[in-house]
Amino acid sequence: MTDSITIALSKGRILKETLPLLKEAGIELLDDIDNSRKLVFPTTDPSVRILIIRATDVPTYVQYGGADLGVTGKDVLMEHGGDGLYEPLDLNIARCRLMTAGPVGKPAPQGRLRVATKFVNLARRHYASQGRQADIIKLYGAMELAPILGLADEIVDIVDTGNTLKANGLEARALIDHISTRLVVNRASMKMKHSQLHPIIEKMGQAVERQRQADAAII
Ligand code: AMP
Repeated sequence: MTDSITIALSKGRILKETLPLLKEAGIELLDDIDNSRKLVFPTTDPSVRILIIRATDVPTYVQYGGADLGVTGKDVLMEHGGDGLYEPLDLNIARCRLMTAGPVGKPAPQGRLRVATKFVNLARRHYASQGRQADIIKLYGAMELAPILGLADEIVDIVDTGNTLKANGLEARALIDHISTRLVVNRASMKMKHSQLHPIIEKMGQAVERQRQADAAII
């Protein structure tokens, strides 16, 4: 019997780079997602459907079995905690760094710090590991504004080129972790639907490896 498989993908910058990897596993969207308001999409494999949702919701859908597989950033997974998930594959896309940052020329004050971020768990863990006391302020975006407006001494955010920090008078300080996009699997699905999930994971893994070798050849 063929079970149906649901794959949760993060909308936004990760999506465009994820679709070619799924194609290598024989899974392609049937609809033009740019011109659709749908959230659930059929694919070229009649047993596979794709959800396109916010990156931060992907681990939750996969954890509770709303999706069997998911694709999201390691930052999102670490913030979520990873309960109920296997993480079999680093897709090696959307690579970036999770860092602390603060205003150029204005070092963090001694003593208690105020830190603005959307990664409250990660930030709390980071400052605790440094033995620094920190009040964490949750924001949902535009973290760079917080130090400018005196809301916080530092931020914890994703840094790629560093241009966003620079444009807002901020500088990167401590590296918390290197980030890339990961494939996650619901633990129960991995057992119950192993014969269907295994080939998808394997083919995506082979596609990642081919891409890695092609990138290495260019360098
Ligand atoms: P940059 O100016 O290149 O350092 O990019 C930083 C901004 O882009 C930040 O506001 C991040 O939220 C966002 N960003 C960059 N790379 C990623 C990524 N791989 N995943 C999610 N957000 C990212």
